[in-house]
Amino acid sequence: MLQPVEIDPRRFCRDAQSWETRSDVSAFPRLVREFTQGELFCRVGGRADAHGGMALDLRIHGEVELTCQRCLGGLKHVIAIDRTVRLAGNEVELERLDQLPDGDAVLAGDRLDLLQLVEDEVLLSLPLAAMHATGECPV
Ligand SMILES: [Zn+2]
Repeated sequence: MLQPVEIDPRRFCRDAQSWETRSDVSAFPRLVREFTQGELFCRVGGRADAHGGMALDLRIHGEVELTCQRCLGGLKHVIAIDRTVRLAGNEVELERLDQLPDGDAVLAGDRLDLLQLVEDEVLLSLPLAAMHATGECPV
C-alpha cells in the first residue's frame, strides 16, 4: 500500500520538485475499491512563476478496469488526466482561482498529501455510473 506523500507545497513549487509513481491500483488506499485491476502512472511537478503564483502540474495515466453496474462484468476505462492545480494562500484566493476558466485550486497549508490529491483527481474523473454501452454487456 502506498504511504501518504506529505510535502510542503510552497517549497515543492519554489524548488520545482516532482514526485512520481507507477503503481498497481490495489496500492492506492482509496482507489482499491473502485478498480478491479490496472496500473496508474502519476506525476506531480511543482512550479512557481515570476509573480509568485504557484501551481502543481498533475499527470495521471493508465488503463484500469471498473465494474459494470448492469452486468457486474469488467469494464475497461482509460484514465488520462493532465491538469494544473494552483495553490491558494487563503480562502479568498481559493475562491478567485476556482472561478477562473479551467480553474482548479487547493488551499495550500503547511502540508499537502500528494497521494490524496492524485486520488481526488482520479475519483472526480470517474463516470457516476460505470456501465457498458446499451446492449454491449458481454453476459
Ligand atoms: Zn455490462
